Amino acid sequence: MVALNPVLAAVLRNTLGRRRGVTGCLFTFHRAARPEDWASLPDRDFYVDIGFLDRLLAYLARHGWSVVTIEEAIRRSAAGDPSKFVNFSIDDCYRDTFELVVPLFRKHGVPVTLFVTTGIPDGTHVMWQAGLEQTVRERDTVVLDGKIVDVASPARKRAVYNAKARAWEGREPLEYAAFCAANAVDTGAVYANHAMTWEMIEAVVDDPHVEIGSHTVHHPHVASLSEEAAFCELERSRLRLEERLDIEVHHFAFPYGRAGDCGPRDFALAGKAGYRSASTTRKGLLTAGADPLHLPRNTLNGRHQQMHHAELHLTGISGLAARVLNRV
Ligand SMILES: [Zn+2]
Repeated sequence: MVALNPVLAAVLRNTLGRRRGVTGCLFTFHRAARPEDWASLPDRDFYVDIGFLDRLLAYLARHGWSVVTIEEAIRRSAAGDPSKFVNFSIDDCYRDTFELVVPLFRKHGVPVTLFVTTGIPDGTHVMWQAGLEQTVRERDTVVLDGKIVDVASPARKRAVYNAKARAWEGREPLEYAAFCAANAVDTGAVYANHAMTWEMIEAVVDDPHVEIGSHTVHHPHVASLSEEAAFCELERSRLRLEERLDIEVHHFAFPYGRAGDCGPRDFALAGKAGYRSASTTRKGLLTAGADPLHLPRNTLNGRHQQMHHAELHLTGISGLAARVLNRV
């Protein structure tokens, strides 16, 4: 994210939008936390402060943005609807989606899209991030590579979490299993603390403020899979949601979602797997007549929780900057 003077962001707002035929802005995030928990979160970039989200929803209402479902967003894009709209989608579906996020959107009377990784409620997904984070957060020391490591202060917790998450990349389930064994982590308790269950999803499925979409079965980097395996991930998660919840699922979001994680082959597969839309995490705005099988989304994260950061997304400036800097 480039830093930009908030005044400049405001000046550029509508002019950029009008020139590029902009219709809407899709936001995404993964987890939410209460303000009082913020200081002790080791992986805080992965969260949005629920208090900030509350203020952002109020700001959007004050400035004439309507919050819509993905279904409505792609309808408006296809129709060239010039009204200002945003969508919020939350990926994976952790327990805080049920406890904090859905109630907040209900309070504001606006919809939120849940992109469910079906392996989470099915109990087959390895929740290594949550497990590593919870253990580092709760303890003063942890055992890493046979050594006792100090994680007593919030700064140490963040540093150790980030170093391990980076070091484990590509072999997380294996590394997490070794970490749990060395630290006597109760993986069942971690799962219960962090996973959204089918019962929680069933409790919100008929809520008019909730739209359910799919986010694969196992949360892979789809582009790295064979065509057959990729199709399977896309189709099986849709079928699982439809069968378990007795609904139709029309929308999909690619895990990770950047240029290296999903490409033209995968966008076509999403159509073949029965989806009307597929979302990425490439920054930018939803323009009139955009291809719904590779929608841009702007990620909200813990580092950038000020209204002018949201404005960079709403104006399309962050998407423009990402393309200029080739960070897609
Ligand atoms: Zn995800």
